[in-house]
Amino acid sequence: MSSQSSSAVTERKVPFFNYPGLFAEHEQEFMDTIRDVLSRGAYIMQKDLFEFEEKLASFIGVKHVFGVADGTVALTLALKLAGVEPGDEVILPSHTFVATAAAVNHVGATPVLCDCGPDHMIDVASAEQLVTAKTKAIMPVQLNGRTCDMDAVTAFADKHGLKIVEDSCQALGARFRGKMAGTFGVAGSFSFYPAKVLGCFGDGGAIVVDDDEKAEILREYRDHGRDQTTGKVVRFGYNARLDNVQAAIMLIKLRTYDRDLERRRAIAVTYQERLGNVDALLLPPAPESDNLRYDIFQNYEIEAEKRDGLREHLAQRGVGTIMQWGGHMIHQFDKLALKANAPYAEAMSSKYMMLPMHHLLSDDDVNHVCDSITEFYRGQA
Ligand SMILES: *Cc1c(COP(=O)(O)O)cnc(C)c1O
Repeated sequence: MSSQSSSAVTERKVPFFNYPGLFAEHEQEFMDTIRDVLSRGAYIMQKDLFEFEEKLASFIGVKHVFGVADGTVALTLALKLAGVEPGDEVILPSHTFVATAAAVNHVGATPVLCDCGPDHMIDVASAEQLVTAKTKAIMPVQLNGRTCDMDAVTAFADKHGLKIVEDSCQALGARFRGKMAGTFGVAGSFSFYPAKVLGCFGDGGAIVVDDDEKAEILREYRDHGRDQTTGKVVRFGYNARLDNVQAAIMLIKLRTYDRDLERRRAIAVTYQERLGNVDALLLPPAPESDNLRYDIFQNYEIEAEKRDGLREHLAQRGVGTIMQWGGHMIHQFDKLALKANAPYAEAMSSKYMMLPMHHLLSDDDVNHVCDSITEFYRGQA
């Protein structure tokens, strides 16, 4: 290798995520839109929000979408709609963001943690052993932009008479048997945290339902329990509205959403082609590996032997990686003291990590990540 090419390699920086790039991508349109919205004084529940809700509803193929403050409140409202109450138990995977469990706690119920499988999705068989007379619902988490085995989840819920409350916060646009994530249970929840595939410039979320009666309740819940026609408070609600300016920003991003998903899937194909034969790695299922699913690759989460050494090596090569949830699954937060049946998740604790995955990565960036990984394991052989 010539010294020139080796310095080109060492100087390349591939941060785990590119926050400033999100703004730079459509800077002029964002600034024009922000100026327009603010100069109209259109801050809360204005036409941009309603237009965003309509566009998102047609993308997902649901009747009703409500922009809300964040994904966690969307999950909390979905659990309320499912009738989950104090004393109930709700089964969810331990390999998820704490928000899934926190939402259960917020409605007064108890999260009970089950395992995941090698694709990092909920392992329904491990949930069987956790069912009690108090179990009210199961929360499949559509993690990393992939859908769970929704046939198995649905059969399990039917068998035990449970409600399904999907955490689809990471999976806007993912499909199982052609059906969109967010449309399987009582209500679907999405997060627009900036690093989510559809991210805003702050916090945001959405809850989606087909049922008209539930939609009426959600309309009130997110706006202090007010009847939207009379303005009268008809129940105790929340201040859980999505900011109008954030909705306007996401209207711009929605226009290129399909293209952004395809870019992520192309990157996943490259990772598969270049790393699929590295024995020390377990990669997520490849985009075309499974005709039941359309995965959107919110994240590219792998398992790696000698993970900590690999991460250090990648950091030296300018490649940022992270461990989801800061390296701790919910059953490992001692102070939450939750019941868990999660041997696979436990064993994967020392192996799981995420590679850079977003639509702004160049082919050279992706190849640099792959080169750096193969270089590491060659050195270990
Ligand atoms: C992002 C996320 C949420 C919700 O997060 P907010 O920050 O409240 O928008 C919930 N569950 C999962 C799995 C997530 O990744």
